[in-house]
Amino acid sequence: MRLILLGPPGAGKGTQAERLVTNHKIVQLSTGDMLRAAVAAETEVGLKAKAVMDRGELVSDDIICSIISDRIDEPDCANGFILDGFPRTIAQADALSALLEAKGMQLNAVVELVVDDEALLGRIEQRAKETGGARADDNAETLKKRLAVYHEQTAPLSAYYAERDMLSTVDGMASIEDVAAAIDKILAAN
Ligand code: AMP
Repeated sequence: MRLILLGPPGAGKGTQAERLVTNHKIVQLSTGDMLRAAVAAETEVGLKAKAVMDRGELVSDDIICSIISDRIDEPDCANGFILDGFPRTIAQADALSALLEAKGMQLNAVVELVVDDEALLGRIEQRAKETGGARADDNAETLKKRLAVYHEQTAPLSAYYAERDMLSTVDGMASIEDVAAAIDKILAAN
């Protein structure tokens, strides 16, 4: 099982991915988590990415694609994976399709969680409270930037995957359980 979870920051991708990991014995590949780990470890990539992430902008496609390509080759990805937060640009989607083809792999589904911007602001503020501000980019100002970047650079991926007959959408405003049930239904059909 290989799938992409699409949706703006705070849409619930991480929450749904955790559930899918347990139920389908696959791994969650969150480029945001990988970058935060690189920042914490002060690796070369981490040092380059930190300021960009703090501003709510996107890290370069080259860096992200090489991280993902290497990660997909790890043995724990053999049973499948959920891409959470990747791809985020059309260039990344093109690169993903090329690298999957080169590895002889196919995607089963692309699931978009559809949520409106105002609800997201509330959710991110709640996450910031619950995690005690653990993420430097979970604040109202950076979130607005992240949402603007999402609409500009990532939202076009809906049409990209719809044109390729791969897109399924789910109402991300529904309860966690209802979103989970809707995703399960899509996966069962793919
Ligand atoms: P996330 O946890 O997915 O919201 O990602 C946090 C931040 O990491 C984003 O605001 C970007 O700065 C960076 N990032 C994560 N994934 C990507 C990606 N696929 N392409 C570019 N930047 C990314």
